[in-house]
Order: sequence, then structure tokens, then C-alpha cells
Amino acid sequence: IGLEGVKNWGARFAGRVWKSVFEELLKIKEPTDWERPEGIVVRAFCTKTGLIATSYCKSKRYDFSIKGISIPNCSYHKPYMVKVCKGTNLIATDDCPPDAVEEKIFTDPDDMPKEYCNCSGGYEHLQLIAPDTVYTDEIVVFEILSPLFKSGDTIEIDINGEKTYLKTYPLKLMWSPSRPGNYYVSVIHWSSIGEVVSKTGKNIKVIPEIRKTEMIVLPIKPKVGDIVRVYIKNPPSYSYTAEVFINGKREGVLAQTPFEFRFKVTSRGTYRIVFKIYDLYGNKLVELEKTIQVP
Ligand SMILES: [Zn+2]
Ligand SMILES: [Zn+2]
Repeated sequence: IGLEGVKNWGARFAGRVWKSVFEELLKIKEPTDWERPEGIVVRAFCTKTGLIATSYCKSKRYDFSIKGISIPNCSYHKPYMVKVCKGTNLIATDDCPPDAVEEKIFTDPDDMPKEYCNCSGGYEHLQLIAPDTVYTDEIVVFEILSPLFKSGDTIEIDINGEKTYLKTYPLKLMWSPSRPGNYYVSVIHWSSIGEVVSKTGKNIKVIPEIRKTEMIVLPIKPKVGDIVRVYIKNPPSYSYTAEVFINGKREGVLAQTPFEFRFKVTSRGTYRIVFKIYDLYGNKLVELEKTIQVP
């Protein structure tokens, strides 16, 4: 008897109603707070267990119950957490690739996988090959290894919300971060019908570039008659002026970056080149030295 039966409540249904109520009572092993029935109420019952339905019970039946008696709630339908292998939808084992294992909540044990996965890692193991640490303005290449990638699929790469989509081989992305900080690179392999095949991700730390100030002398082995070019690679921040000394004699004062000085090699011998770089206030920031031999 369903809810509609309530409207037809009458003597001719009474027999059936009482039969139904007593059927319910028989299913209850230990009735508590037993009292003499005082009245009849309509309650939702789980059709699977016959107990009082909760929000987890998908199939409910409304039926009469005796007011004042306690019927336990259905405890068969409740959240169950199961680790599932996405490749097979079976219970994940330690052999499943970690990025294929997903925690799923089931509310009906009948829907849960019953068998253990035996993929042994045969399910796609999507991999992102990328360094853990990158300097600002360094150019790095991310490579995605996706054994199941096929025509029509898409690899989505999301770096702190900035998305790039790769649809063809090579599954590579060049990246050059300008700002230091912590980045998360998420990679999703989408199938051609828009389903997630696999996911992975990696934290990357971007640290400020340590600029190494260097003196470059070209050509490396000059001969008599050559014009030698001397310049400073990566001058320190706040560089303002530079002095150039050759064999102890000041040959020039340079007032703007890039600091570059040229001289002609007029004779054989040893050339000791010294660069002194100063800030706006005349504080020496760095002194660089290089000696060349002209045979
Ligand atoms: Zn239930
Ligand atoms: Zn598996």
C-alpha cells in the first residue's frame, strides 16, 4: 500500500494494512521502546533493507508504521570510501599507477566494485617531465609522456591558471617564468569525447636568477693587429660607471651599460685587463680581471 492508499483508508483495506505493518515488525530483530500501538503513521522505508530510509537510500517505499515504535535507520546505504583504479573501475591495489587511483564515495554497496584491479600499471601512466626548480627567465621544456595519447585527444597544461592545449606530437611546452614563486603545473589528458583519460601534476619553484657577472674578451686568442672587444655580461644591478685598466693603466671610463671597450693589439705580450664597476654614488660593485697572452 502506497501513499495513495491513505486516501482510501477504510475497513476494506484494514486487513492489508495490518499485514504490512506486521511484516515490517517481523523484520526488526530487537524492537526498542516497545509500547502498545496507539496509532498508525506513514513512514519511508528502504526497499532493500525494510528499515527507515535515509537520504542515502535510493529506493524508498512509503508504508504504515505503528506510531511510537522505534525502527532503526537503514545502515546498509551510507557513504563508503573506496579507492578505485580509473583505468578499470575496479578496486585499486598498490600496483595501480598512483595517478590512476581515485577515492570514490559510494552510498550503495551494490554499486561498488567487487574485484581488485589487475592492471599492474598497464593503465596509462601520464607523466610530466619537468624540473623541480627553475630560474626566472630560464627557458625550460616540459615533456608529457602519454602512452595512450591518440589523434583527437588533447593534453591540457595548466600553470597557475594559465592553460595551454597540445593536440599533436611532440607533447612539449616551452616555459620561461618571469616571476619567482611557487607554481603548480597540472596536466590532463582529455579524450576526443571530452572525458578525462588521466591526470598528473607537479609543483615547480621559480627562484630569482643568480646573475653571474663575467668579463668576455673576444677573440679568445688575439694576435697582433686584432681589435679586441671586451665587454661585461650581466653587470650588477645599479651599475653606473666602469673603469677599464690595461696593465695597470686606466684606458677608459664607460658611462653606460652595456659596458664595452675595444682596443687594438699593437704588440706581443701579456695584457692584464681589469674592469671596475661602480654605482651612482661611486661605490665599487665589482672588480673583474682577465689576462690574455698575445704570441
Ligand atoms: Zn537503505
Ligand atoms: Zn589499476
